This record gives sequence, structure tokens and C-alpha cells, in this order.
Amino acid sequence: MTPSRKKVEGARPKFIEWLVARGAQVLRPTNEWELVRFDCASGVAIVYGNSKGGTTFTGEALKAWEAFMGSGAWSAGARTKRVKLSPIVHTLLERDGDRCFYCFGHTSDADRSVEHLVPVAHGGPNHISNLVLAHRACNALAGHMSAMEKIRIREQRGAQ
Ligand SMILES: [Zn+2]
Repeated sequence: MTPSRKKVEGARPKFIEWLVARGAQVLRPTNEWELVRFDCASGVAIVYGNSKGGTTFTGEALKAWEAFMGSGAWSAGARTKRVKLSPIVHTLLERDGDRCFYCFGHTSDADRSVEHLVPVAHGGPNHISNLVLAHRACNALAGHMSAMEKIRIREQRGAQ
């Protein structure tokens, strides 16, 4: 049985704190129905609230919630026991999650680069609005393309 939306909302600040302490990477919700969104070794997990006051849990979310409510042990696992992230990477992860801008695959601390959509050499700003995360190989492939070409690659991949 999943808890009521009200119950999750009431416990949310403590739950988030609890998740972070266990190595999860708490992400910013992407829409109003997401109560809690976090990343762990098995991928992104989400607690949704619905208009009827109920909840839906995806990924590891229910396991984590039950451990949080009980005395069960839970850990986010290896992938998010990460080295200290640079502030810009941290902000991009919060905004976009850990997926590659080009191929939509998960990136890891070992294989992740910050990509300028408009290259600095072409006057692109070092601002967050011009930055995305990408695999090193994907980034290298797109290195000499214009921003329009880069977005086209992404759209082609996304349509598959
Ligand atoms: Zn990629």
C-alpha cells in the first residue's frame, strides 16, 4: 500500500534529508505531480502525488520510503557515491538529470563532460543556458558542429 499524498508531503523535508544521507542524488521535480525525485544506482526514482490524494512510486522510491518509515536499511548504491562535483555540473544534474544531451544515455562521474552548445570560440557564453552534459565521446563527435546541428543530432536520436 502506498501512503497518501498528504503523508508524503508532510514527511518530504525529512525524507529528502534521509535520502541525501544515504547517497541518493535528489533532483528538482520536473512537474507539479512529482513530490520527490532522486537518482540512485538503479536509476531515477520518483514519488508522484495524484489529484485524488494518492501516490505512485517508481524505481527504488517505494523501497526507500518503506526503509525511511521503518527501520529498514537502504542505500542509494554505488553510482551516486560520487566524487565532489563542480558547482556547474551539480546545477546541470539538478536541471537535466544525468543523461547525455546527444544520446540520452546515463552519464557517470567517470564519463561526463560539460558541453557548450555554442562553442566559446564562436562567442558562446559560459552561462548555464549554453551548457549541457554529454558523454566525452558524444561531446567529441559534436565538437565542430554548430548549435543547430547539435540540436538536430539530438532530435534525430530522440525520435528513434
Ligand atoms: Zn552520449
